[in-house]
Amino acid sequence: MIYRCENGESTDRLAEVIRRGSAPDGGLYYISDIPDVSDLLYGDSVVLQSGHGGYNDFVVKILERMLPDEAPGISWGELIDSAYDFAPSLHALESEYVLELFHGPSCAFKDFGARFLARYLEADCRRRDEKLVILTATSGDTGSAVGQAFAGSDAIDVVILFPRGRISHLQEKQLTTIGGNVHAIEVDGSFDDCQRMVKRIFADQSLSSGISLSSANSINLGRLIPQMLYYLYAAARLSADGCDAPVFCVPSGNFGNLTAGVMGYMAGMRVSGFIAATNRNDVVPEYLQSGHFQPRPSVETISNAMDVGSPSNFPRLTRLYSDDYARVRSHIAGYAVSDEHTRETMRTYAERHGYLACPHTAVGLAASAHHRNANLAPSEATFVTLGTAHPAKFPDIVEQATQETPEAPERLSRVLRLPSQADTMDADVGALATWLRERFGR
Ligand SMILES: *Cc1c(COP(=O)(O)O)cnc(C)c1O
Repeated sequence: MIYRCENGESTDRLAEVIRRGSAPDGGLYYISDIPDVSDLLYGDSVVLQSGHGGYNDFVVKILERMLPDEAPGISWGELIDSAYDFAPSLHALESEYVLELFHGPSCAFKDFGARFLARYLEADCRRRDEKLVILTATSGDTGSAVGQAFAGSDAIDVVILFPRGRISHLQEKQLTTIGGNVHAIEVDGSFDDCQRMVKRIFADQSLSSGISLSSANSINLGRLIPQMLYYLYAAARLSADGCDAPVFCVPSGNFGNLTAGVMGYMAGMRVSGFIAATNRNDVVPEYLQSGHFQPRPSVETISNAMDVGSPSNFPRLTRLYSDDYARVRSHIAGYAVSDEHTRETMRTYAERHGYLACPHTAVGLAASAHHRNANLAPSEATFVTLGTAHPAKFPDIVEQATQETPEAPERLSRVLRLPSQADTMDADVGALATWLRERFGR
């Protein structure tokens, strides 16, 4: 695969791309020349075992084909086996599927990207005998996935900024109870303030001189590549069961997840299209309607991990279609779902199917139902909505909508009993620079 910058430079070194996160010009790395792996997805010779062992075998074959020389000093098999002791799971409802991606340590799909990235960077640091600091801002779910993924690493420290009072109690507990090499900083400001502080540190080298910094945010291709793999897996499994070319419906915020799905399509996965499902932060559905992309400040909703007003992966998404609006539009449908409709969907699925969905997944289920009812896809198409988080991550919202209490997995209830540790900070980049130099400067 080739990774290109906006300014035309390119590299084929994945380790460099992952270590840097963003391109040398500060922008995105764009991915091109994605190898076709369709023979590994379809046909009689494809063997798919269930459970995480089966998932791992499948994705290792894909990685060995796509990125034969890019494993960081260990084999893809070793890396993947140390990353994943959990797997995606296709949950069949009456006439559709939920691809549940929340069976990992932080109970959200971001575990797939974060664990891969963590194992990759760790192996790369070991090979180069280097230390690294990951600096990231979170509006909720990213921080816990990234924190969990790097917990206990001796080569890598993680610094996570979160906005005071703007994330759920459980999310805060997930971030602040890891400790050790994972440092949580509570910022007196908004998520946008946190993100601005992080961006300034990356943009101005003098602020972090001598510290080797990397980001783990969703523009890092080290998160998108592993996310592509679960789409391929789901498509292969469904095809083996006689359901070819599904429609994937993706609850979206920063649009990393949907971009990963389209990367899968470029790699030869057969699909009948994608659905971009958003909450009221609807700049992408609006673009799909009008052809105009107009980022704006985000608004708060009950699916808060999708409260993004300026989705950073959007240019990467359209680039995969050569920035051809007609092509994007013919392949991706967009729907914005209100909080009210989201709650109603949670209620309907609980009553009709006994299925509890988190508010993000419910946005997807609502968009998928809308699309089906409007007869916009081939009538025989199978619909797969990505289940992005466990309902027990959002117990209050789920309970309010459905009158049912989602049962929390032990890994979630455990964090509530652990003591929190976080430093506090004003929304000031100078304060962050000082904090970083005091801890990691040489
Ligand atoms: C991050 C997140 C999303 C949005 O994913 P993007 O890749 O940013 O579009 C959706 N649901 C949950 C639960 C998330 O944590």
